[in-house]
This record gives sequence, C-alpha cells and structure tokens, in this order.
Amino acid sequence: MDNYILISTLNDFIFCPYSIYLHNVYMETDESIYYATPQVRGKIAHEGIDKKTYSTRKDDITSLPVFSEKYGLIGKIDLLKNKEHLLIERKYQIKQIFQGQIYQLWAQYLCLKEMGYQVEKLAFYEISTNKMIPVELPNEEEFKKFEDFLIQFRMYDPSKKIDIIKSKCMHCIYNNLCDKTEVSNVYT
Ligand code: SF4
Repeated sequence: MDNYILISTLNDFIFCPYSIYLHNVYMETDESIYYATPQVRGKIAHEGIDKKTYSTRKDDITSLPVFSEKYGLIGKIDLLKNKEHLLIERKYQIKQIFQGQIYQLWAQYLCLKEMGYQVEKLAFYEISTNKMIPVELPNEEEFKKFEDFLIQFRMYDPSKKIDIIKSKCMHCIYNNLCDKTEVSNVYT
C-alpha cells in the first residue's frame, strides 16, 4: 500500500506539496499538535459520517473505504446515494471550492467505479446552509490533467527548494513543524 496516494491529501498537495511530507512524518503523532482551529469544525462535521450516524436509509452508503488499483488511490467516501447514483462530500461551510477538493471527489468517483459501483453525479453538500453544490464529472481534458497531477504527486521530492508564499504559510496547519519558512501562523 506504500505507493497508494491518500485521497484526503490531494487538496493539501496543491496548497503546498511540502505539507504532505510533513503530514506523512507527523501523522503518527497526536492530532492536536498540528490541527489548528479552522480544521476542528470540519473534522467534527465528518464525525457523523465516520460514526455512521448520518443516514439510516438502506440505499445510502456512508463512510465506505475505497481504493483504485489502477490509479493507486485509497481513501473513504462520505455518502453514496445508491438510488440516485450520487456521490456526496459534505462540509460544514463552503466559502470556495478548491481544485484539490474537486480532485478528491473525482478520485473517490474513480475508486467507486473500479469497485463496481454506479456513480453518475457528484456534489458537495454544505451543512450550515443545507445546500447541495453539484460538481461536473471530469471531461477528457480535465481527466488528463488529473492523471498528470497524480504523476506530479508521486514524483515530488521534499528536499527540493520550494517557493514560499507567506499568506499560505500563515494559514498552514503544519506551520509549527515546517523547516522551510520563518513565517508564523495566525493561530498561535
Ligand atoms: S508552512 Fe508554508 S512551506 Fe511549510 S508546509 Fe506550510 S505552506 Fe508549505
């Protein structure tokens, strides 16, 4: 499983590839060491799913571990509405949808397809406003970009110099552990 990419790290990789290196080094440690306040609410929002309390409908599948041998991906879905063939990722609040979050949904979709599930629609669901936000399935060009992105992810060398973007470092949950920047994070 060593070469499998964790789907949950795709968005962080776009934010800063070095954060994935830090995540992998420190993932065994107590999460309270590196999770900063804005992440806590999102984690709680996921608890209903992780504890399988969100839905009791028979045709809904929640918190299902998924993987794709073909793309080397592994992760977990939030909710698949089997009857509607709809894959949903719920979040407490959605101010903006980042490309990495869309990649995460596409990755889950590819895993489910390879596992034999029928998925035709994707969406984010904002818990705080009870709003569903549909996401398009990838077209051919987008799919190629996604495949290239997975190659970049696998080839990333953490010893290489990176461009420091202060505004990112200030809001980075790995800031306290990072040896690439002197910028302090805003949560301390
Ligand atoms: S603190 Fe800055 S350089 Fe370090 S992992 Fe975070 S975003 Fe990347």
